[in-house]
Amino acid sequence: MKICVIGTGYVGLVAGAGFSDMGNDVTCCDVDKSKIDGLNRGELPIYEPGLDKLVETNAAEGRLVFTTDVAKGVAGADIVLLAVGTPPGPDGSADLQYIFKAAEDVADALTGWAVIVTKSTVPVGTGDKIEARMKARTKHEFAVASNPEFLKEGDAVNDFMKPDRVIVGAEDKRAIDSLRSLYAPFTRTSDRMLVMDRRSAELTKYAANSMLATRISFMNDLSNLCEILGCDIELVRKGMGSDVRIGPKFLYAGAGFGGSCFPKDLKACITTGREVGYELKILDAVVEVNEKQKKLLGQKVLKHFNGDLKGKKIALWGLAFKPGTDDIREAPALVLVEQLLAAGAEVVATDPVAMPAVRKQLGDRIRYEESNYDTAEGADALVLVTEWNEFRRPSFDRLKKIMRQPVIFDGRNIWNPAEVRAAGFTYSGIGRGKA
Ligand code: NAD
Repeated sequence: MKICVIGTGYVGLVAGAGFSDMGNDVTCCDVDKSKIDGLNRGELPIYEPGLDKLVETNAAEGRLVFTTDVAKGVAGADIVLLAVGTPPGPDGSADLQYIFKAAEDVADALTGWAVIVTKSTVPVGTGDKIEARMKARTKHEFAVASNPEFLKEGDAVNDFMKPDRVIVGAEDKRAIDSLRSLYAPFTRTSDRMLVMDRRSAELTKYAANSMLATRISFMNDLSNLCEILGCDIELVRKGMGSDVRIGPKFLYAGAGFGGSCFPKDLKACITTGREVGYELKILDAVVEVNEKQKKLLGQKVLKHFNGDLKGKKIALWGLAFKPGTDDIREAPALVLVEQLLAAGAEVVATDPVAMPAVRKQLGDRIRYEESNYDTAEGADALVLVTEWNEFRRPSFDRLKKIMRQPVIFDGRNIWNPAEVRAAGFTYSGIGRGKA
């Protein structure tokens, strides 16, 4: 099949590479010339495990092509995927200007029937609007389908190549058939494609992210109660998660959720409700708990040093919003950095892949170190913000020797408090006994 992907970011690039790997001819388009030039030189614009190999192999085979020329990509394509950003607007609703512009560019470039597939996360009714806008610009017939993407950054290639389920929102038989054959190689072991109406498919994506975020905020809320009651959220989590009706995933208390999806999708979902006069009260609370939680680590550090961080050096391990990605959109680490700087601290940070992105945003307001131990050298406190594997088993004895003060804040509860304390540290986690 000939496939065109509009928008070559996290979703578009992974999808383009994944579809080309199944033997399709894929053209990935983007308005960002530097991104396309880089890809044509073999440079990936994002960090995602396994993606470099996938792109390299398929580009070398000539099945994966990158261009800024939408008309070239759309001409003769059977399927056109829209994978551009849908960031939050000032009122929290999804800003649809990029997806409408992309759809109009596609309409102008159509050369025959194609199915236009919205992979971006969009509010209910966006497919209807895309269809109307495109109809006004082209004489060619086409169908518009919704196919929300569920990949996780950090494990995007795996998620894409082995999806739990594929949601397709479409009523047009030809569109459904095209998407069935596109996804057949990915859903061979069992038929995991769920076909539904377009509006329900659009809402399914928001509903899924909202439920996952709700679990996290629920646990963060409980973790704060644990600190008042002297309970350990890690034991509560294990006890709850082993109930098969609940399950163990997304039950980790921590520094709050961030990233490009949960915060914006929750806001867009809440706004969608509000626009039709319905208040999603649970989601309002989920957002409120998360805003509070993102400030918690900073408050703990400030409390420990009696509110004055002048002359104190604070070391941060982890900047990305979660392990496995260089994405720092809405990352809790950025909130923490601002709190620490405002209180007069010197901040030194390390992250396996996100430092270039943070440097772009914060410049030299903080210091960056490549090595974990160099970051902690001479620090008055070490704060673990992102639970990368390389931070899981440090030598606490070595840390004790090189730090100015033996103080650890474990923002993701990855360390054993007894072990850290036995090494001579003051340890503070999230929801682990009395604060
Ligand atoms: P991104 O910002 O990484 O990439 C979007 C790309 O679209 C950018 O490279 C941008 O230059 C390009 N673009 C914008 N307008 C364009 C146009 N008119 N023509 C061509 N290219 C254009 O975004 P992303 O993280 O890949 O997210 C894309 C969509 O997928 C969003 O709606 C997001 O909510 C959704 N989504 C993201 C994830 C994720 O983990 N990142 C997961 C599932 C769904």
